[in-house]
Amino acid sequence: MTTLAIDIGGTKLAAALIDDDLQIRERREQPTPASKTPDALRAALKSLVEPVMSAAQRVAIASTGIIREGTLLSINPHNLGGLLHFPLVQTLESITGLPAMAVNDAQAAAWAEYHAPGINAPDMVFITVSTGVGGGVVLNGELQTGAGGLAGHLGHTLADPQGPICGCGRRGCVEAIASGRAIAARAQGELAGLDAKAIFDHAQRGHQPARALVAHSAQTLARLIADVKAVTDCQTVVVGGSVGLAEGYLSQVAEFLAQEPAVYHVELRPAYYRHDAGLLGAARLATGATS
Ligand SMILES: [Zn+2]
Repeated sequence: MTTLAIDIGGTKLAAALIDDDLQIRERREQPTPASKTPDALRAALKSLVEPVMSAAQRVAIASTGIIREGTLLSINPHNLGGLLHFPLVQTLESITGLPAMAVNDAQAAAWAEYHAPGINAPDMVFITVSTGVGGGVVLNGELQTGAGGLAGHLGHTLADPQGPICGCGRRGCVEAIASGRAIAARAQGELAGLDAKAIFDHAQRGHQPARALVAHSAQTLARLIADVKAVTDCQTVVVGGSVGLAEGYLSQVAEFLAQEPAVYHVELRPAYYRHDAGLLGAARLATGATS
């Protein structure tokens, strides 16, 4: 069987045809519509999948947000605008005429990364650090999605009670301190107004204030990983995302984690599937593949 996998992100939509051997056969991308309206998203999804859907027998969706019973929700309902309660599964089933399922994108990515070469642990946690901070938890070989879809939203655990307000409405979440958006928001002086990528470029060149911003994020992530170890007793933590995979970032996280007591240490790995993890994880969940 061939799965039409779809990844719905804040800035881009991706679709791919994925065979049962989990090889990506064809991949398409287009921007996420800027207007957060159900009609615009439906139209964009239709133009994305129409050229390839005749080759598929089922649809698997990985999407930003909380996915509850096939419908799009958010920790903070204001974040989704008109897309709150967007019926993802129903929409894709009506566009394609195929059976569809949906899962949160970081949860899907965690499931893909759990099957990456070299992962032999029964318990693994995936953390993505990019514009935001997301995660997915695999315990005893099973992906934890949660009864309400919330499981693994590690970016919204507390890092600093005096920290900035997070997009979820809570103060001092990991996401409000360690994410790419948070790094950019803390930038001052000549770094003010730069995005996270430009700040990382400065840090690479030895710019001290930029290095301090990156280090603050890496230290916050290391503390989160120690918390994750305490909660799950996982053997491995896989880190992905544009910030997580930026040169030199994970090694700093490892240095900060090494300063925590040994009981909180885990094997740290960079994400293997990178930008395809959401697509592959969703397809793998749809096929029920176990190998
Ligand atoms: Zn939050």
